[in-house]
Amino acid sequence: MSTSSSTVAVVGAGIAGLSAAIRLAASGKKVIVFEQNSYTGGKVTAFEKKGFRFDMGPSLFTLPYLVDELFEMAGKNPRDYFNYHTHDEVCRYFWEDGMKLTLYPSIDKNEAAVASVFGHSEGKKMRDYFERARIKYDLTAPFFLEKSLHRIGTFWTPAVIKVLKEIPRLGLFSTLHEENEKVFNSPKLVQLFNRYATYNGSSPYQTPGIMQMITHLEHNLGTHFPVGGMHEISQSLTRLAVELGVQFELNTKVEELTIENNEITGLKAEGKPWRVDQLVCNTDVKHAYQYLMPKGVKRPKKTLAQEPSSSALIFYWGLTAQFPELDLHNIIFSEDYKTEFDHIQMNGPFWEDPTVYIHISNRLEPADAPDGKDCWFVMVNTPYDQGQNWDDIVPLVREKVLERISRILGTSVEPLIEVEEVLRPKDIERRTSSIGGALYGTSSNDRLAAFLRHSNKSDSVKGLYFCGGSAHPGGGVPLCLLSGKIAAEWLIEEG
Ligand SMILES: Cc1cc2nc3c(=O)[nH]c(=O)nc-3n(C[C@H](O)[C@H](O)[C@H](O)COP(=O)(O)OP(=O)(O)OC[C@H]3O[C@@H](n4cnc5c(N)ncnc54)[C@H](O)[C@@H]3O)c2cc1C
Repeated sequence: MSTSSSTVAVVGAGIAGLSAAIRLAASGKKVIVFEQNSYTGGKVTAFEKKGFRFDMGPSLFTLPYLVDELFEMAGKNPRDYFNYHTHDEVCRYFWEDGMKLTLYPSIDKNEAAVASVFGHSEGKKMRDYFERARIKYDLTAPFFLEKSLHRIGTFWTPAVIKVLKEIPRLGLFSTLHEENEKVFNSPKLVQLFNRYATYNGSSPYQTPGIMQMITHLEHNLGTHFPVGGMHEISQSLTRLAVELGVQFELNTKVEELTIENNEITGLKAEGKPWRVDQLVCNTDVKHAYQYLMPKGVKRPKKTLAQEPSSSALIFYWGLTAQFPELDLHNIIFSEDYKTEFDHIQMNGPFWEDPTVYIHISNRLEPADAPDGKDCWFVMVNTPYDQGQNWDDIVPLVREKVLERISRILGTSVEPLIEVEEVLRPKDIERRTSSIGGALYGTSSNDRLAAFLRHSNKSDSVKGLYFCGGSAHPGGGVPLCLLSGKIAAEWLIEEG
């Protein structure tokens, strides 16, 4: 049996692996993190080119308390390590017919903004929408997101009884699109709130209506952005982990988990065996079962049959001009959202009318671009990689995206591009081993998805725990931080 000074391996230094490693080290465990890349953070990484700094992955940052609590738990002041801006706008929305709408982290401002564009009745509905999103979040987050769904104890609490009573009102049996259509008359507002399905890589026409609760985070709780960019989340957590004594083995790909008599005993990395007492796996769960598990380990068939989430094509453009009409987060909507998602779901040919997201970090972090210039992160949703010919697709998407942005801004953007890089789904897979380059692990295109995601603990191998986007409670920075927390706390409790 392990003691409190047992050695724990964490495979993968993604955001969930860092969250788990910090908690384990703070509890007195010896922790070794094995990471195949030369850097930590997984998808939360960045690059610089000719004076422009780009965050490569996430750009939306909510629930900063989940980062802060890791420092506080280690007895540190988070402000000595990690700081963030609180922004006064959520997102600027644009449609092809010239309509525009800006939303804020304020219900009063949102009601007024929507009323002025879509009429008073829609403004009032917007207020009710955010109030309902708050209720749904407060009711379900402590149960669905902050606890394991695979422990009987989670279900024997008064909070769960409250959830059960509210099930008919949670929107579990209808889609996000159907729920949004019940609320708003304007198809544009339905489209706007449908977009929240993409926060976990799903389709609004399939993901359950309960996903409305995601809107609560930015609009009611606040829109934030780290000082130094998103990359500072992974870098500040790495600094904390090092201070707590976590050992990082970078450039070290784990090739196999060592399992004896259904118990984890070590791993093999770069040909070298390591003995450990427990192991937290932060790799994509499908990757783990396909490549790391020895033969004979029981495979959770239903979990492994879950579809990966959608992926994305990202263009990083350093521009020689600035566009004040664009803010930190901007969306230019497609005219046929349903067909766009049908193409993504069915891996159809590239849809020529994609919705375009533009993130401009230098709005809050001026040092990210030289004076008078803008650094743009331009993203369109795509299917996960299934062998598509990205060499053909990328130029086509680039052309359509540039046409759309240029139409909205009334100026040709292509001649302004000074610096350019592209990230394709297969690059995301190569860099992180996420199957198909899925951004968020598995999709939530099914009302049972939350229950089918992999448990934070193996039910067949003693001492083996899981965290990350493809494990409970799912993808996105906040949920991955929670995933690392649930796995680490479970391990500490048992070992
Ligand atoms: C372009 C993009 C945009 C996104 N936008 C947002 C956003 O705005 N907001 C948001 O909250 N989320 C966003 N996400 C999702 C978010 O980034 C992820 O859900 C989250 O960062 C995943 O963290 P993770 O811990 O699951 O692991 P990952 O980041 O996938 O890291 C896993 C790590 O494990 C390592 N690894 C894998 N296999 C092995 C092995 N065999 N041996 C050693 N190491 C291994 C990998 O190298 C990697 O470092 C975005 C993602 C991308 C790519």
